[in-house]
Amino acid sequence: MAVLADIHSNLEALKAVLEDVGQVDQIWCLGDVVGYGPEANECGEMMRERVERCVAGNHDWGVLGKLDLSWFSDSAVEALKITRQIMGEKEKRFLESLPDMEKLGDSILLHGSPRNPIFEYIFETPQAAINFEKFSEKICFFGHTHYPMIFEKEGEKVRKIVPCFQKEIKLKKNCRYLINPGAVGQPRDGDPRASYLLLEEVLGRGKERERKLRFRRVVYPIEKTQKKMKKLGMPEILVERLSLGR
Ligand code: ZN
Repeated sequence: MAVLADIHSNLEALKAVLEDVGQVDQIWCLGDVVGYGPEANECGEMMRERVERCVAGNHDWGVLGKLDLSWFSDSAVEALKITRQIMGEKEKRFLESLPDMEKLGDSILLHGSPRNPIFEYIFETPQAAINFEKFSEKICFFGHTHYPMIFEKEGEKVRKIVPCFQKEIKLKKNCRYLINPGAVGQPRDGDPRASYLLLEEVLGRGKERERKLRFRRVVYPIEKTQKKMKKLGMPEILVERLSLGR
């Protein structure tokens, strides 16, 4: 299975990621399909075709007018206004159909946090610890911060793990997790490559079910996205940050 978040209308990044994903049984998306980038309709269409489950993010709600624009930065507001103008009815209906949370087996999917699925950013361990109390499933997949990150809870102890690209991380039987795949369309951890994760289930040595995470980074033609953004008159600061991964 592949888990994607924060596409942000970046079709070039999304296409590169889907190619890298290849054949998987399911693809899940943790919201913010639109906002910031130039191709909201195309990204919406691709998500409808390829993704089994998708939840709503704050930018998806911003485009629909479900959130007051005072919640967003000036550059985000400019991008949202342009997005509203270019988005078709069909794609807006798709965004409207997205729930703010999904429960699937022993996992939940949401954009921000279990305590506040649309707005809250989980960056630090104390905040993660509070949020572990707000769900009972083994794993909560979240996005919103644009940083690949894991919080692992063992007993009462919560620790933060910053995952390395490509390294496999085995999920422990006795732990619960908050897991962020990083952003497809606007990474902010200093690495401009698109980020997502693969979750694989394998049989361990004792024939027990084991789950492994693999964080992936994918090169995509950033300058193509930037060119399209400039053509639409998107704010320069949003164009530039894609090259920096900040
Ligand atoms: Zn986002």
